[in-house]
Amino acid sequence: MAESNPDALILEGCPRSTHTDDEDFIRLARESVIGYRHFLAVNELRVLRAEEYIRTVPRPLAGAPHLGVWFSARIDALCIRSDGLLVAIEIKTGNAVEPPGILATLPSVFIYHHVADWAFSPAHGLEVVRLLPHRGESTHVRIGESEISTGRAFVREMVIALDARAFAPRTGPKCAYCQCVDTCPAHRRMAKSSTPF
Ligand code: SF4
Repeated sequence: MAESNPDALILEGCPRSTHTDDEDFIRLARESVIGYRHFLAVNELRVLRAEEYIRTVPRPLAGAPHLGVWFSARIDALCIRSDGLLVAIEIKTGNAVEPPGILATLPSVFIYHHVADWAFSPAHGLEVVRLLPHRGESTHVRIGESEISTGRAFVREMVIALDARAFAPRTGPKCAYCQCVDTCPAHRRMAKSSTPF
């Protein structure tokens, strides 16, 4: 049964991919599946949602109410621990995971926490985990008031700078996934959209 056999699960997950001919890919995927299951078991976690895409509603920006801000994120795994703690797991395939003091200050972790907190209003607290399942490494952080206030200040500054066009967009491979690509001045798609087809 694919659910219990990591290799069958991997093949089922990418049926038309040439990745399955790549031994390194298969090894990494197998180690990740096994490591992820082990992590859930030893931490007594039950998966509630996987790959959940969440988009918050727009809210006015404090100090600049003419601007709105919303967030979106795909939570790799949202779990509940036996004591009721909600755990949002971000799964990575890299070689190192940041220590808690660094991780708690990253804007990406602030957004991950904000989105999970907004969507699920956990009654017994929320923890963010960055997990490298293939290496058996993880960092757990509880985002406190100080990190929330730093994260909000960072986002506010960024939104105000974007509105003022204080810096030019930097194009790169991530543009392919960017939700702003149609209106981004670096791509000029809006200008091209007025040309009749
Ligand atoms: S599309 Fe524009 S805004 Fe989006 S990542 Fe690329 S350069 Fe940045």
